[in-house]
Amino acid sequence: MPNHISTQTAAFFDLDRTLLDMNSSTLWAKHELLAGSISMRQFGRVLVWNVLYHLSLIDIETAFKEAVGHYRGRSYEGLDAETRDWFARDVAHHLRPGAGRALREHREQGHHLILLTSASAFASRAARDTWGLDDFLANDFPADEEGRLHGTFVSPLCHGPGKVRRARAWASERGIDLADCYFYTDSYSDAPMLKAVGFPRVVSPDPRLKRAARQRGWPIVQW
Ligand SMILES: [Mg+2]
Repeated sequence: MPNHISTQTAAFFDLDRTLLDMNSSTLWAKHELLAGSISMRQFGRVLVWNVLYHLSLIDIETAFKEAVGHYRGRSYEGLDAETRDWFARDVAHHLRPGAGRALREHREQGHHLILLTSASAFASRAARDTWGLDDFLANDFPADEEGRLHGTFVSPLCHGPGKVRRARAWASERGIDLADCYFYTDSYSDAPMLKAVGFPRVVSPDPRLKRAARQRGWPIVQW
């Protein structure tokens, strides 16, 4: 292996409004509305949650409980296949141009490319395979022996400090130090992970995260 290639560095990427120019959950809700799986009223609730979440005004666990309860009894495999179709059709083209460049640059440097997101494991698996990422750390949903979803999520959520726990575990299994790693995000809720890595990168931030970035000296990139 050429000596400029470092396998001891990972670049972690948030998904929604970081790699993507919008929230994947909004696109999923649109898909469900068009497929007749949710009502217009439920669709409206998803949009409201997204806004509140983006402003860090809601308890994410409560929102998640309500959202995933809807999938109780659904087939894990079936939902996985449906998500792959949806991702290819409605999501993949929302990759920000700057995100595509960053993925290529980190790839050229031999870094691990890891999705670190509060989105579902279904969406994350599709993103990993579409963009050639190495791995994903995301929220997964337990199923019974027949592959039917319980309608719950694996705790603790991969969100805020939960992202740091997941990333630390992933890195330590591979002898990687987070001090050597990058993390890209748009969201103030990701401040714990921005603090945990050696190379934090704030992407097209909202005003609250922009202020925090200026105070802490976190580089800001506009994608
Ligand atoms: Mg985000």
